[in-house]
Amino acid sequence: MIGAQLDAETADAVDRAVSALGGRRIAILTGAGVSTDSGIPDYRGKGAPVRTPMTVDQFLSSDAARRRYWVGSHLGWRAFAGAAPNEGHRAIADLESRGIATGVVTQNVDGLHVRAGSRRVVELHGTMRRVFCTHCGQVFDRRDLAQRVEADNPWIRVPENVALGPDGDVLPESSEGFVVPACSVCDGMLKPDVVFFGEYIPAEKFREAEQLVHTSEGLIIAGSSLVVNSGIRLLERARRRRLPVVIVNRGATRADARASVKIDAGTSEVLRALADALPYA
Ligand SMILES: [Zn+2]
Repeated sequence: MIGAQLDAETADAVDRAVSALGGRRIAILTGAGVSTDSGIPDYRGKGAPVRTPMTVDQFLSSDAARRRYWVGSHLGWRAFAGAAPNEGHRAIADLESRGIATGVVTQNVDGLHVRAGSRRVVELHGTMRRVFCTHCGQVFDRRDLAQRVEADNPWIRVPENVALGPDGDVLPESSEGFVVPACSVCDGMLKPDVVFFGEYIPAEKFREAEQLVHTSEGLIIAGSSLVVNSGIRLLERARRRRLPVVIVNRGATRADARASVKIDAGTSEVLRALADALPYA
């Protein structure tokens, strides 16, 4: 059904991708573009506002920054929790269940691959689902923490009470008086289990991603413009082994010239078309 919606140029590119990848076990790398059809904005996509993300140093060193971060993060979490996996997430899970995909490496923190049924998921930038204590290491489920945040800050449930800036950031006045959640075990500082701007991807996480690419015979990169270096590094691992690399992304990426096939179209319909057309590995 979705395959029928592809224009001729995209359908042709999908055919070439199937020829390049057919019969191979494939690793999949995803970025924000796979989640836009779930209503989660891609801050790096075309037309996206320029955003200055909070650095980990700001977060760790300033109470005011932490208040601002937690108000925004809480609202973001509510939006994430209300989002559902789309056809692209489901196509990737299908490819894995049929033994074609070895797993998925994602730059996204929205947890939608897990919710779509993917089993081997390497979350390079962490996940919004978990929060941990920077002092004692205790891990908390975000859902429980969100309840505590709302109990301590009941006003946050009313959208008009929270002023958002033009780029979606929370304006300082709406974070004044916000009670930042603390560790219920040791009262230490909590931090979402996500890689902040200015932080490195944990080495063992990147090795896990490399391992996945290493045990695969092809690579699909979907919904990433590859501005993040980790993506380029994984692409180079695949190229060094002369594996076919297929890039699916609306708009140019940093590595179009290095792909075996570039498909310039939406990830949901293209991943579905690929999943329907690829033969068993
Ligand atoms: Zn603690």
